Amino acid sequence: MKQIELVINNPSGLHARPAKVFSNLAKQFSCDIHITTADKKANAKSVISVLTLGVHAGTSVKIEANGDDEAKAITALETAIHSGLGEELDTGTTKPEPHNSKEEHIHKSEKLNVQHFDFQGVSGAPGIAIGKIFQYSKSTIEISDNFTDAKTEISMFVSAVKQARYELSILRDTMSDKSLDAAEIIDVHLEMLEDPELVELTRTNIQSGLGAAKAWENSFTEMALLISDVDDETLSERSKDVRDVGERILRILSGHQTEDLLLSTEGPIIVVAKDLSPSDTMALDQNKIVGFCTSEGGPTSHTAILARSLGIPAIVSADTQTLDIANDTEAIINGTAGTLISNPDNNSVVEANKLAAVYREKHEAALRTAHESATTKDGHRVPIFANVGTVAEVPKALEEGAEGIGLLRTEWLFLERSTPPSEEEQFIVMQDIMTMLAGKPLVIRTLDIGGDKPLPYISMKQESNPFLGERGIRLYWSQQDLLISQLRSIFRAAKPNLMRVMFPMVSDRDELRKIRKIFDEIRENMSAPNVELGIMIEVPSAAIMAEALAEDVDFFSIGTNDLTQYTLAVDRLNPNLNYLSDAMHPAVLKLIGQTISAAHAKNKHVALCGELGSDMQAVPVLLGLGIDEISVSISALAIVKSFIRTLSLRECKKMAQVALQCSTAAEVRYQLKQVSLD
Ligand code: PEP
Ligand code: MG
Repeated sequence: MKQIELVINNPSGLHARPAKVFSNLAKQFSCDIHITTADKKANAKSVISVLTLGVHAGTSVKIEANGDDEAKAITALETAIHSGLGEELDTGTTKPEPHNSKEEHIHKSEKLNVQHFDFQGVSGAPGIAIGKIFQYSKSTIEISDNFTDAKTEISMFVSAVKQARYELSILRDTMSDKSLDAAEIIDVHLEMLEDPELVELTRTNIQSGLGAAKAWENSFTEMALLISDVDDETLSERSKDVRDVGERILRILSGHQTEDLLLSTEGPIIVVAKDLSPSDTMALDQNKIVGFCTSEGGPTSHTAILARSLGIPAIVSADTQTLDIANDTEAIINGTAGTLISNPDNNSVVEANKLAAVYREKHEAALRTAHESATTKDGHRVPIFANVGTVAEVPKALEEGAEGIGLLRTEWLFLERSTPPSEEEQFIVMQDIMTMLAGKPLVIRTLDIGGDKPLPYISMKQESNPFLGERGIRLYWSQQDLLISQLRSIFRAAKPNLMRVMFPMVSDRDELRKIRKIFDEIRENMSAPNVELGIMIEVPSAAIMAEALAEDVDFFSIGTNDLTQYTLAVDRLNPNLNYLSDAMHPAVLKLIGQTISAAHAKNKHVALCGELGSDMQAVPVLLGLGIDEISVSISALAIVKSFIRTLSLRECKKMAQVALQCSTAAEVRYQLKQVSLD
């Protein structure tokens, strides 16, 4: 046996990311590996188990390896820990205290909106609907203390896991057509069922005399509690997944039937709950549900993600008083505005019904014409492309009418693994996408990583302002191997004039020239076909200097998500700042207009791939400012295309002028509603 004692110096200890890097590395060795603290021991190959150690910065841990490759394992783990497991080690910089977001948010919202809305929350999924309130609460599962003998209890447990796996696979099949996000969440649950440590802990509990259900409940609760203790939002969501999987198996073990809580309730229903687990959300009859409202969770909670991909309006972080609304109370949920009105008056109902009908009809009509081009009434055609983040989304995008892929976020190829993808692996993916696109264009954004999203296999500095740090193109200078293999894989898969490459977070012309040189050299050395080079315009300095930058590019693509964040100095992930974070701010629109004019003066084309492209109020303004191409999320493709067919470029130009005259985002939105269209 080999062992080593080390101090963990990661600023937040072994939290989600470093724990995952650690256990993924451990899994590469055949020997048994354990990590111990003063009072706990964990299987190094089980991420859940490593998380439950709750190792904080400065904790001393012992790593023990036992088996053929024990020496290699110890050396590799020691090196990985010393290099920070994908993070910069603690430098003594203090992290700002997270502030209590929700209370503050509600307080602010009340001040802003009290005269308009009964209950305020945060937009989770857009849309408007009327339904009856259904307060969701599950009955508790009764667990018996029976214990037959260890062998029988273990075999009961094993068949319950098998049954859970079967249920999840069926659920995955049903959900994968409706929502890729749902399918991904189910995959995580399937992985958790197999977690060696969770299973082993249950077996040990059974050996010590507990019945299968009790043994399982003790093990998953213990792990979930320890995980939720760690101060990391993503991590605490993982503890909910552990509980979710836990309850599924408990229900099977205790013979508790899956409840159809909505069975006797007539639709349409607005489900209100403190929080909903992914399984709760997926198990509810979605044909009856027209809205979700939870008092917990933010826009990135499971409920919000699932509701968005199912096309059901949702509000999250809602006023806790929503939990006191009586069942069957009539209510209007406005997922776009993040509001819920209970017992609405007649006028509000009429208005909401109108809006909901318009929205529904538009959506259905849009889908029928999804494959037609987006050409305005006066003959101006705007290609509409799709933003995708995985290869699996490409066929869906094409089905929904994408004329090409306008933003392929390549991060998914690099994340969730302990070594970088090889050039060959990336080439195969790019080639597959080109085949699926069958002659339609592909715009690839090179790796946009860094700041808050470190890669486990490269050492990155801890930064006090990660979004202002080594992100996107800035990271390439120290990680040229990653850049070169990505570019080589792209050039190998390129077909003449069908592929474009763009670089994220460019803020300066020297950066652009440097990357252009590398790009041209590699392409020429490989005698690859022509591939256009572009940059994302998402840093204000790039928009301001667009005229100069346009000299060195073939195209621009405006990333309004980051451009808004940096122009307004608003962290795009902070739900408290939703009220400020509006890309329709005239400051952002001016930068967009300026970028387009500068590019056109140099005969370069300009696309837009931020979320603003899916905002119906923004679309005419963007056309009016002269945008050449828009890339939107898959769910917005059909609706954006059909909306453009109702516009004329002439009126769009008028709207752009109106917007540019305003001084706030609210004023832009208000004034645009007043513009009378032809
Ligand atoms: C953007 O910033 O608008 C963008 C499209 O890139 P991402 O959202 O991936 O940062
Ligand atoms: Mg961006």
